[in-house]
Amino acid sequence: MSNKSHIRVNDSYGAHNYHPLPIVISKAKGVWVWDAEGKKYMDMLSAYSALNQGHRNEYIIKKVKEQLNRVTLTSRAFHNDKLPLFLKKVCEFSGFQMALPMNTGAEAVETALKMARKWGYYKKKVEPRKAQIIVAANNFHGRTISIISFSTEDQYRDGFGPFTPGFKVVKYGDSQAIKKAINKNTVAVMIEPIQGEGGIIIPPKGYLREVRKITRENKVLLMLDEIQTGLARTGKNFAYEWENIKPDVLILGKALGGGIMPVSVVLSSRSIMSVFKPGDHGSTFGGNPLGSAAGIAALEYIEKNKLAQRALELGDYFVRELRNIKSEHIKDVRGRGLLIGVELDTKAREYAEKLMKDGLLCKETHDYVLRFAPPLVITKEEIDWALGKIRKFF
Ligand SMILES: *Cc1c(COP(=O)(O)O)cnc(C)c1O
Repeated sequence: MSNKSHIRVNDSYGAHNYHPLPIVISKAKGVWVWDAEGKKYMDMLSAYSALNQGHRNEYIIKKVKEQLNRVTLTSRAFHNDKLPLFLKKVCEFSGFQMALPMNTGAEAVETALKMARKWGYYKKKVEPRKAQIIVAANNFHGRTISIISFSTEDQYRDGFGPFTPGFKVVKYGDSQAIKKAINKNTVAVMIEPIQGEGGIIIPPKGYLREVRKITRENKVLLMLDEIQTGLARTGKNFAYEWENIKPDVLILGKALGGGIMPVSVVLSSRSIMSVFKPGDHGSTFGGNPLGSAAGIAALEYIEKNKLAQRALELGDYFVRELRNIKSEHIKDVRGRGLLIGVELDTKAREYAEKLMKDGLLCKETHDYVLRFAPPLVITKEEIDWALGKIRKFF
């Protein structure tokens, strides 16, 4: 079938909740993908950082295949022999004591919100039904009703009310705004260390450290959503390491599934995690053996191949070269590791379409920002190839 006919069938049978670029991917390897007619493209979006280890990573595929031949899914009413290894691995990798596995990022965020509320009532002794969670304007944490309840993006909310109460939105990057918003019912602050969907917004230096201090002083949990920034993307295993802090709760997803399975987790201390009792929370697929195998392999690959170091070095190079492009349309080039945003003075979609036609896949975020976030297995030569394409259009 041609690219065009795939798109036609998609549009007639599928809900129109996305507006994809007109490309139909039918094969992929590493940083490269091929469309239904055999044309080759470089993927610089990486499923929004879910493909940090590259498409069809050989090591992860091998481990997942081995698991496919043993057991893929069990009821959580029983134990399986892969989940404990995954839990141990993800705790050791991140330096947290306990993990709660889910599948998608939004589910892990919901889990963290539930945990924070329960911790508030049972440990902090907040008045029943009064718990408040502080979040940042311009956030992206997923698409469930509760999560969009505190989105500041009109389109994400339009038509979906009534909304979940208990959230307070403050300005991103302003620690004093958080301090002011805290009251006796505040149980948690949940933020992204860098706002990915929000346009690759890097907060001022010292912000996270300040927020850490304020939350600790006020007995409020600091919960970081590193679903997009985590797992080596920003040049460290976690973006919070840039400010030498540690949150109380860490939320991971995307690349944790190694580009194969949806795997997410909430990580925390034994004391905070202990608010969950049997029956409080769960997920049919959360912690399944196949996802666990993917998760273990995904983390092992990041470690063994020093992906954080790669992202750091290649990201610095990529940003430097992008900054050297002299164009009246480029207003700002910002990034950390291989999470890079190029802010334009005009709609970015137009550039994404031009680059796509020329074999480079990227996507606009927030109308004016082009996001470049290739798989972290990319080579310097491949970045040079991409730079050649980018230079052509600016
Ligand atoms: C993608 C993303 C989510 C949501 O993850 P899903 O798997 O799409 O539910 C949440 N938070 C951040 C920061 C993300 O980038």
